[in-house]
Amino acid sequence: MTVLVLGNGGREHALALALHRDPSVVGLHVAPGNPGTAAVATNHAVDASDSGAVVALAREIGANLVVVGPEAPLVAGVADAVRAAGIACFGPSAEAAQIEGSKQFAKQIMEAAGVPTAASVYCTTVDEVAAAIDRFGPPYVVKQDGLAAGKGVIVTPDRDAALEHAADALPAIVEEYLDGPEVSLFAITDGVTALPLQPAQDFKRVGDGDAGPNTGGMGAYTPLPWAPDGLVEAIMRDVVQPTVDEMARRGTPFTGLLYAGLALTSRGLRVVEFNCRFGDPETQAVLSLLESPLGEVLDAASTGRLAEVGELAWSPDSAVIVVLAADGYPGVPAKGGSIAGPRLFGSDDAVHIAHAGTAGGEAALTASGGRVLGVVGRGADLSAARAAAYAAIDELDAPTLFCRRDIAERAASGKISTPAL
Ligand code: AMP
Repeated sequence: MTVLVLGNGGREHALALALHRDPSVVGLHVAPGNPGTAAVATNHAVDASDSGAVVALAREIGANLVVVGPEAPLVAGVADAVRAAGIACFGPSAEAAQIEGSKQFAKQIMEAAGVPTAASVYCTTVDEVAAAIDRFGPPYVVKQDGLAAGKGVIVTPDRDAALEHAADALPAIVEEYLDGPEVSLFAITDGVTALPLQPAQDFKRVGDGDAGPNTGGMGAYTPLPWAPDGLVEAIMRDVVQPTVDEMARRGTPFTGLLYAGLALTSRGLRVVEFNCRFGDPETQAVLSLLESPLGEVLDAASTGRLAEVGELAWSPDSAVIVVLAADGYPGVPAKGGSIAGPRLFGSDDAVHIAHAGTAGGEAALTASGGRVLGVVGRGADLSAARAAAYAAIDELDAPTLFCRRDIAERAASGKISTPAL
């Protein structure tokens, strides 16, 4: 089949790499893509959120399947337009994408489906926010209702900082604080059947030791050596399947990737957020271990045949991704910094580099975004995978980029105790 991937980040590079490994994928295209995707696919300078242009491109290249990477095109209805043109699409409708596009909508779905999540209050004024945060107590959690690329949330013990954030984030959701380790679980669904990928953990804060503001994600690892037995089964039973069923019951079935971000709290598991697409950077680590043919699985999900796909097959390895971001991120990132070194194009068994915000090509690669590269290390365990990733980073010459040095460190050294389910 011929597949068109929409997007230009590290996630889309990871999707392209995994699709490239599937022998049933004979044509692979990315719009707009990046210098990394150009090495395994044909890039097209088309805006992923422009439904008309995407449909025209899909027709021109004879795409059998369109895979939508980021949330913005989904919320803009690109998947609806592709399906209306008679082309299979992996990604939810604009209505179903509201599960990420509106935190308030997600809360309503969870309430109706009986899915455990943080208690919350929807606020349209700073006064309402002040009353709500005083009700829940510190640490304070204030979230912008709409899309914010992972940066609309503040978690802080500082009441003034919470109120200041709220003033720019209205309408906002104020939530009770959830303790315990976080888990990201991706489920592929055709609207009825759901199939889990391997769970991962990501690192949202910009600095080592979880210091500083939230970002789109600074690293991730998979699998989780500390996970309680039956974790994936419990999440599928208590969170994913009830949510998929509730969306179908409302007449807005969710087809695509349902991402459940969870906290394993002392009172049991709770949903922190839903996303309507693969997570970035977890996808780069998770898909690097997938042994099943991704194109066939996404095609089955997009055409209502997911029940025919058995369990997914995984490498027994561990994978760690460390994100290299441009100085200034998550504020205004420095652009144009040079990037040189081995493995920027191509990979070996232990390491590959996912491009996110790069420009140029093999001759002269430069930084062009906030998150610039994701270095994915693989190994027999998390320690080996971390060592591979950081060794590869130390070989890069990229003076305007920085990374966290503690990705997966606590998990690799057995410092995360197994929570009860
Ligand atoms: P969200 O955009 O909702 O995923 O929030 C981004 C990040 O903020 C999450 O991954 C958590 O690390 C943190 N966060 C969000 N909600 C809560 C909460 N209720 N309690 C504690 N941390 C939270």
